[in-house]
Amino acid sequence: MRKTKFLKLKLREAGFITRALLSSRHPVLAHLIPMRRCNLACGYCNEYDHSSQPVPLDVVKKRIDKLAQLGTSIVTISGGEPMMHPQLDEIVQHIRLRGMIAGLISNGYYFTPDRIKRLNKAGLEYLQISIDNVEPDEVSRKSLRILDKKLRYLSDYADFHVNINSVIGGGIKKPEDALAVARRAVELGFSSTVGVIHDHDGTLKPLSEREKSIFQEVKKLGNKDHARLNWFQDSIAEGKPYKWRCRAGARYLYVCEDGLVHWCSQQRGYPGIPLEQYTMEDFDREYKTEKWCAPTCTLQCVHQVGILDNWRDPQKTPAEMAQERKSKEALNGILRTD
Ligand code: SF4
Ligand code: SF4
Repeated sequence: MRKTKFLKLKLREAGFITRALLSSRHPVLAHLIPMRRCNLACGYCNEYDHSSQPVPLDVVKKRIDKLAQLGTSIVTISGGEPMMHPQLDEIVQHIRLRGMIAGLISNGYYFTPDRIKRLNKAGLEYLQISIDNVEPDEVSRKSLRILDKKLRYLSDYADFHVNINSVIGGGIKKPEDALAVARRAVELGFSSTVGVIHDHDGTLKPLSEREKSIFQEVKKLGNKDHARLNWFQDSIAEGKPYKWRCRAGARYLYVCEDGLVHWCSQQRGYPGIPLEQYTMEDFDREYKTEKWCAPTCTLQCVHQVGILDNWRDPQKTPAEMAQERKSKEALNGILRTD
């Protein structure tokens, strides 16, 4: 990424962070799924299928418009494999047109020099690729050996920021591969992060001693800002629960291919309301609701968004929220009768 472009992006980010600190009443980050289908089938993943069709462009654009209307700062396109969507460039363009930061999460398989140049032109600002191992195995084919050529293309042509995420846990056989991935990322001029993989319900799988020590080593190589923002991972790696306020459904939105808002990829079904009908009333309820799955959650981006409001607005359990709603309704009933 060119230096001037990088500085411009950092300034824009700083503006969005200031806005988020001044007001807690808009989403900071939304993950938008225009394509559930994926070309791979990673053993730990519950976020793909092999048959669904791309969401039509006009439908995706309407969802982006609604996210802009809610005041969202960053939209990250995810999947499945979003590079399989035939109109991905137009989707990126539309996010930028609506004044939001445009990011993409991909498995990296479809990057060619031409594809990268088209994404430059569309205005993509961030790309994250997760690489799970050095050699492909039955758990994952997101492998350094297969993807190295794609990484070199990105290093040569990408005008957007590239982050390579390596992973530990979740059935990945050789934890030391994460170190090889992080070293290669730094060598090619990318930022590098490391994550603990969640299991099928988004919760923790404790790391072994060997995994823990490699995890710490990889972290030292990586993005310092990221390491500062992800101190929760130290507790998670130790197998200890972490206390924080998950603001999913409010400051973070997960919008699936059917256009429904969910807490996150691992808690689909809650609240499960269509984005087009999502109101600030829904936002406020989810902002205040304590999430039962929070203490062992490993979803880095939702944690990072949570930091913005961790110091304010304590949450209530769903039962307490329901009780509060009931009392309000009862009070309204009494006032109406009077
Ligand atoms: S590439 Fe990503 S979406 Fe596809 S199966 Fe693997 S983890 Fe899931
Ligand atoms: S704590 Fe939040 S982000 Fe984590 S699994 Fe639960 S709802 Fe999802």
